[in-house]
Amino acid sequence: MKYTFPHYFDQFQCVAAECEDTCCAGWAIMIDEETLEKYKEYQGSFGNRLRNSIDWEEGCFCQYDKRCAFLNDDNLCDLHIEAGEHMLCDTCRNYPRHMEEFEGLREGSLSLSCIESAKIILGCEEPVQFITMEDDVEDEEYEDFDFLLFTKMMDARGKILEVLQNRDIDIMMRISMVLELAQKMQDAVDENEIFKIDDLLEEFGSINMALEFQKNAEKYIVGENEFCGNMRKIFRIFSKLEVLKHDWPDYVKKAEKTLYGNGQREYEKQRQAFHKLCGLKSAEYEKWSNWIEQLMVYFVFTYFCGSVYDDNILGKMQTAVVTTLLIQELAIAKWVENGEVLDFKAFVDIAHRVSREIEHSDVNLIRLEKIFDSNMVYKTDDLLKLILFKN
Ligand code: SF4
Repeated sequence: MKYTFPHYFDQFQCVAAECEDTCCAGWAIMIDEETLEKYKEYQGSFGNRLRNSIDWEEGCFCQYDKRCAFLNDDNLCDLHIEAGEHMLCDTCRNYPRHMEEFEGLREGSLSLSCIESAKIILGCEEPVQFITMEDDVEDEEYEDFDFLLFTKMMDARGKILEVLQNRDIDIMMRISMVLELAQKMQDAVDENEIFKIDDLLEEFGSINMALEFQKNAEKYIVGENEFCGNMRKIFRIFSKLEVLKHDWPDYVKKAEKTLYGNGQREYEKQRQAFHKLCGLKSAEYEKWSNWIEQLMVYFVFTYFCGSVYDDNILGKMQTAVVTTLLIQELAIAKWVENGEVLDFKAFVDIAHRVSREIEHSDVNLIRLEKIFDSNMVYKTDDLLKLILFKN
């Protein structure tokens, strides 16, 4: 079996009671079969509490006030304290380490939703390296696994990550290039011409191709009104998602008011000031573009190849791009609210909040892809207009 991880994977350490967040609040924590069996058998008085705190139908821990039944007032886990680490279920033992499984390959990543992981992911200043190892564990065979498509996806992801990490190209241009590639790959798969992907990848990422793309980018010019209107429409996607943490709706409402509440002209003034002082057009470009690069690399590495299971290549890239754009919008709002200041801590906080709401809800991940499919504003040409809009 092969395993691939980002180079910082082993740097994570849980800070437990010191943590400024509570990872087990808000989520329904699913319990694996093996651990459920252990819980059934657990003896003593804690055994009764354990069994009474499980939703046996769903196979998850009960929640009170959107908090796990075992999360105590000190934000520590009573199950860990009373029964020991060996009694934790796989989800709790592994979090924030996330694993994607493919035939012959397991890919590990740290979840952006954990604030300590987010510090590692976004604090990485150099391009992330991905390390592959192999052991003697026999590969599991997956029924109906499309190995040919998977190979193409892996090749494409390698090239996409290379482009996303090419710091000679403007970050928004890099994002546009990979989105356009995903669209072309999707077209090839939909037309049953998967071998076209090889041709697409041959040129992709070359200097010539980047220059050509830059030249063509002029066709994606859009007016301020349309930009603001479409950005606001995209921002409203938050209101269509399942809420995981109780304070999230108010957090988003406040940001929406800050961004769009005073009309389109004020929005545009704030956005341009942000980019001039600390974003894409500022002396801080290197820092800002690095955060954006790390977000895109994180989403693409974690989810892109999962499209081997549903053929939705474009959907995976749209999720990466739209989530990154939304984090950028929330960052602008925070910058305004904080008196034109946005430090690393604030950016980490925003990214981990968004990740908590989106990445840990299958309902939300599926809903997002459906929304992308049904709304014109997410069509590739329209998204490109937003990404490439002058700053
Ligand atoms: S959010 Fe991360 S650091 Fe905080 S308690 Fe959970 S796993 Fe530990």
